[in-house]
Amino acid sequence: MHEAMDRRAGPKQLIYQKQAEQIIRNLNHRKIAGRYFDTASEAVEEICRMIPPGAVVGLGGSETVIETGLLEALRKLDINLLDRYRKDVTEQEVEEMRESGFTSDLFITSTNAITLDGILVNQDGQGNRVACLIYGPKKVIVITGMNKVTENLEQAISRIKTIAAPMNALRRNKLTPCSKTGVCHDAGCFPPNRICNQLVITEGSRTRDRITVLLIGSEYGF
Ligand code: SF4
Repeated sequence: MHEAMDRRAGPKQLIYQKQAEQIIRNLNHRKIAGRYFDTASEAVEEICRMIPPGAVVGLGGSETVIETGLLEALRKLDINLLDRYRKDVTEQEVEEMRESGFTSDLFITSTNAITLDGILVNQDGQGNRVACLIYGPKKVIVITGMNKVTENLEQAISRIKTIAAPMNALRRNKLTPCSKTGVCHDAGCFPPNRICNQLVITEGSRTRDRITVLLIGSEYGF
């Protein structure tokens, strides 16, 4: 975020840069590392640099990982990628990858929301993604577009119920009330279709910089 970059940026990107500065400062207080990139390709390059050869890399379910080009870039690296998005992957293999993710060297996911004061908010159906965020993998990388930024915790949870969960339910062909009407009907939504089973609010990390959040000045994922 140097001056030359600022001069090229439009108003939206300038706002994203200013918000990112605030978020990164607050993440740092929470012992979480934060970086901002104007473009996805810069963020993807940085992530690829962060992964040592031979590392076991787990993936949380994420549209952002696909849309940013990160998945394709990871596939070209000399690593053991637990690639749940491989074309011929079986449900059994995906389940094994979920389990292997807990002991991976590095786990990559997005976040459903991030507040301006640096709190990560995530909701899972199964829970393996949020479990890896909390504990297990040695390092966690969170890649997210600035569209996931919310002013506070209340808005973060609202974002999940009004945007992230309904879109994810539709994408996964889940017969939830939100996928039918576009609106959350929490009281009438139950497993196995319900995808809002685990709500995890990450307010900090016991180990400094175990988690790194890479913010991208554009919109990705839900
Ligand atoms: S609780 Fe159910 S209806 Fe509401 S957002 Fe989650 S999956 Fe959709």
